[in-house]
Amino acid sequence: MFKDLNTSVQFLKGIGPKRAGLFSKLGIHTVEDILYYFPRRYEDRTNFVPISKLQEGETYTIKAEVLAKGQHDSYKRRGFSITEVAVQDQSAKIFCVWFNQPYLKEYFKIGQSLILYGRIERYGSRLQINSPEFEIVSSEKNEPHPSLESIGASKEGRGESLNIGRIVPIYSLPEGITQRYFRQLIKYALDEYLPKLNDFLPFDIRTRNGLFNLAKSLVNIHFPDNSDMQKEAYRRLAFEEFFIFQLPLALRKFKKREKLGIAHKVEGESTKDFIGSLPFQLTGAQERVIQEIKSDMASPKVMQRLLQGDVGSGKTVVATIASIMAIQGGYQVALMVPTEILARQHYKSIKTQVSGLKVQGKQLSIGLLTGSASEREKKNLCQEAKEGKIDLLIGTHALLEENVNFSNLGLVVIDEQHKFGVGQRALLPKKGVNPDVLIMTATPIPRTLAITLYGDLDISIINELPLGRIPVRTIHFTENTRNQAYSIAKEQLRLRHQVYIVYPVIEDSYALDIAGAKKMYEQLKAGEFKEFKLGLIHGRLKQKEQDEIMLKFKDRGLDVLVSTTVLEVGIDIPNATCMIIEHAHRFGLAQLHQLRGRIGRGSAQSFCILVSDTETPEAGSRLKTMVKYGDGFRIAEEDLKIRGPGEFFGRRQHGLTELKIANPLTEMKLLKRAREEAIRLINADPCLGERQHLGLREKLLQRFPQYHNLVMVG
Ligand code: ADP
Ligand code: MG
Repeated sequence: MFKDLNTSVQFLKGIGPKRAGLFSKLGIHTVEDILYYFPRRYEDRTNFVPISKLQEGETYTIKAEVLAKGQHDSYKRRGFSITEVAVQDQSAKIFCVWFNQPYLKEYFKIGQSLILYGRIERYGSRLQINSPEFEIVSSEKNEPHPSLESIGASKEGRGESLNIGRIVPIYSLPEGITQRYFRQLIKYALDEYLPKLNDFLPFDIRTRNGLFNLAKSLVNIHFPDNSDMQKEAYRRLAFEEFFIFQLPLALRKFKKREKLGIAHKVEGESTKDFIGSLPFQLTGAQERVIQEIKSDMASPKVMQRLLQGDVGSGKTVVATIASIMAIQGGYQVALMVPTEILARQHYKSIKTQVSGLKVQGKQLSIGLLTGSASEREKKNLCQEAKEGKIDLLIGTHALLEENVNFSNLGLVVIDEQHKFGVGQRALLPKKGVNPDVLIMTATPIPRTLAITLYGDLDISIINELPLGRIPVRTIHFTENTRNQAYSIAKEQLRLRHQVYIVYPVIEDSYALDIAGAKKMYEQLKAGEFKEFKLGLIHGRLKQKEQDEIMLKFKDRGLDVLVSTTVLEVGIDIPNATCMIIEHAHRFGLAQLHQLRGRIGRGSAQSFCILVSDTETPEAGSRLKTMVKYGDGFRIAEEDLKIRGPGEFFGRRQHGLTELKIANPLTEMKLLKRAREEAIRLINADPCLGERQHLGLREKLLQRFPQYHNLVMVG
């Protein structure tokens, strides 16, 4: 009989609707989900350490019997209870202590056998275990696990062979599901479903990489015979995750290779004239990436290039040069950015930069299309773009609208691409016939990771800041030392520089106990900064008002700009040399780094001041990272460490959140192998149509239904 892993867990014996509800909260809906619900850790219960051998400060698993139990209230704090349970084995006894869990007292029975896991700590002269994890292994009365019987636990299961005398899996489980019950369930699912299980990972890939087959891996990830088996099981399952994650990337890369695009006329006077007219010299890194882009654009293959460069590294000018290369051959360019402010800034600065420039004897024609343009303006722009009268159209996602068309779109540039979804990114190039694509980001990630994450893209990196930039000094102040923050800001103001003050929210939040930009603007204007000209900007202002304020600040009509994170991406005002970030712990590292990127853009010393009192360990390490590092790549690495890859990359961007056990940071080698195998396989069988690949194809579509077209269209 063939048993389908997609069977709902409800059909497993012993799981009623109530448990099914609990399971679905864990993301477990099918038998497969259960089998892929991997242990959080393992305990070696083959040998228990005798209590007499326990050492302070170490963590152990022990097996012992309940000797006595008691409960008392804390004499220090009212309403605070302490439950103590004395346990003993043949060698000695020890106290286990739980705080504020009074019900535990009733839970334990004298004489009961327990397995306990925790750290040994000293309390006065005695050793104890505080809040150990525990499991009841036997008791005289029946345990509160009636469902163990009802799921038809095998004889073996009803004994203790799953729970002691072996390496035992420990799962992350909510209240209402015990470790023992879950182990039993896993065992049952393994017994029932594994014998008929096909391995979707092709045999030759397994052999080449020395990987366990699926059944063996699933057994050993849950109930490993020893830690080597567990490691091998992990290796196979991590490989599998990476592999499935890499397949669509390999597919896209393959499709791209087949596609013929435009061979741009990259050599021309216009680019040289433009570079010559710049008020600065390009950095070596800029020149290098321009060469990379140039050779891509010259080739008839479609360019799909990711340009990474830290904030302030000068990506815009690179994009402008690429644009001129396309325009001088008679093509149009579309440049998409995530915010209106940024669109306007690019429009203005690029327009100024190219004002003296002649391409094929005429001025460049540049258009700006954003959501706030009037219907008439939009209509005119669309008309002009369609007739090929506009060379460079800059805009927000308004560019994606249906009525925006080009006569001859040759290059698409997407700035701050991490602000767009993958889907949005793919739309713009469709407005031309295989145009070249350049996407830019300041979210730097370690190179090995970048190559594998954006497997379908080529990557250029600007790893150098323009000459003469002085690293921003970052200082952390608390509420008590806030005055110092203000004096630094005022000193900058007296030097005729400008200051940003950033708040996480617009309105005050009593619930979060934080001040908002709006009220603080009034306060600061009337108090602390009353000798200066203050402005306020936030996302709830009309677009036109936002623009006016930004412009006024840029033209030095304002000294201090009180703001929310509308400043976050792209804004470039070199005269601003100081940024105070209030409630800095409320921001993520990437966001802090982006914000800080707004200063340090000129040749003067800039100051980034983080004001925060909160000392949660995570917030603390974020702020420390900011103070310590200026380099975006370094910060990204720290961020990855603190948050883990899933959080770091966000749901929108990648299938990375799909990774359950594979860790791309620690398993880069395995990731690389998985990627190589994926590319190899796709080159051999691009549609995954061969018989031995059908299982894999099904798996791929199950995980990523959106790739249906990629494998279905030959
Ligand atoms: P980002 O990479 O963050 O988008 P921008 O393109 O906004 O950076 O550039 C930041 C600032 O540096 C701009 O004012 C730009 O004119 C300037 N800039 C760019 N390249 C250079 C260079 N090679 N030397 C000096 N200044 C430069
Ligand atoms: Mg930029």
